[in-house]
Amino acid sequence: MNFHLRQAQSIKYIQFLSASEFPNLHHGLTLRSGGFSHRPFHSLNFGKKTDDLKPSIDKNYKKFFVSLDIPQTRFCQTLQVHGSTVIRIKKNTPIEDYSKIQADALITNLTGTYLAMTVADCLPIFFFHHHEKVIGLAHAGWRGTLKKIAVQTIRKLGSQFKLPKNEFSALLGPSIGECCFKVGQEIYNCFSPSARRKKMRINLQAENALQLRKEGIPVENIRMINLCTSCHQRWFFSYRRDQGKTGRMLAFIGIRNEANDK
Ligand SMILES: [Zn+2]
Repeated sequence: MNFHLRQAQSIKYIQFLSASEFPNLHHGLTLRSGGFSHRPFHSLNFGKKTDDLKPSIDKNYKKFFVSLDIPQTRFCQTLQVHGSTVIRIKKNTPIEDYSKIQADALITNLTGTYLAMTVADCLPIFFFHHHEKVIGLAHAGWRGTLKKIAVQTIRKLGSQFKLPKNEFSALLGPSIGECCFKVGQEIYNCFSPSARRKKMRINLQAENALQLRKEGIPVENIRMINLCTSCHQRWFFSYRRDQGKTGRMLAFIGIRNEANDK
């Protein structure tokens, strides 16, 4: 296994093992249990655009912030639209302003600032630099993957912070797996041959990993959690499995301020 299961009070989340050597890096993907939402959003739903009750979603967020000691005022979310826009989070822009911006990837070099995306089958991709305090987070469903959101993110990380792309790591997953992701012929044809599987199935992680390798991220810096969100019902929400009536997990990444280390 290349991940471990963490728990903070009743909030459970997955972390990549390869990121644990970077002590101030704080990242994860929440599991669906331990929240306040009722069926079909049970129970730790973070999807603000779902039909879940707003008070339940608010309580889930509040519990998350308190349990993981994450400052709500430095927690950045955008409107996710399955596009390829990457936004850099800057110091002087109020964090709530980003919630009105359409973007599917975020980057920053601000410590203490968290980047977040909600997912339920789509692939979260966590980026971090090995020496500098620079991070990114992308939301790649099949649409975002075909629009090369991962490529846009690593390019912007390199150009904005003047850092070589091969000094970044990219951590992929979990997402819907090739076992459960069947598409139509037209979409199937858009994917690289190495991401296509038998019976019109697609491996989203393979496609994104390939794109990132072509952009110069070394293969040893690319890690994947090959857990299928559709197959693992107890752990994950899955948009496809639950026919759209489901919650959203929360992917997050931040660099803790030294003073806040625990
Ligand atoms: Zn599956």
